Amino acid sequence: MADTTEAPAARRIPAPAVNVESKPFWDAAEQGKFLIKRCKACGKAHWYPRNLCPHCFSSETVWEESPGEGVIYTYSVMHRNTPVPYAIAYVNLDEGPAVLTNIIDYDAATLKIGARVKVKWTPTEGGPPVFTFAPV
Ligand SMILES: [Zn+2]
Repeated sequence: MADTTEAPAARRIPAPAVNVESKPFWDAAEQGKFLIKRCKACGKAHWYPRNLCPHCFSSETVWEESPGEGVIYTYSVMHRNTPVPYAIAYVNLDEGPAVLTNIIDYDAATLKIGARVKVKWTPTEGGPPVFTFAPV
């Protein structure tokens, strides 16, 4: 049986779809900066970034640079229809929001619920890098 915790080094990642609302995020990603949005009306951070606050529907949302650190809330290792197994997870950012993402550079000891992870940018085919997370 294959090692279920092999890193997804051989998996090709398509370029993310960039639109007007998400362009500032992807522009920052090109510089290795992880941005989230925070609402000036209720003070809460949210993910994914959008113009209207999902907590109070205010349009007073601003971009904020995040260290991109958090903990694995839950994860699943994908085996089907992929050349290399890879892990998807919900990561709870220290600012509060949960991010659906891929975990990379992990092994059996570091891929677990509650593990500390940090954003690590993964190149794509012809677009900005995408956010993935790796154990710290
Ligand atoms: Zn709000």
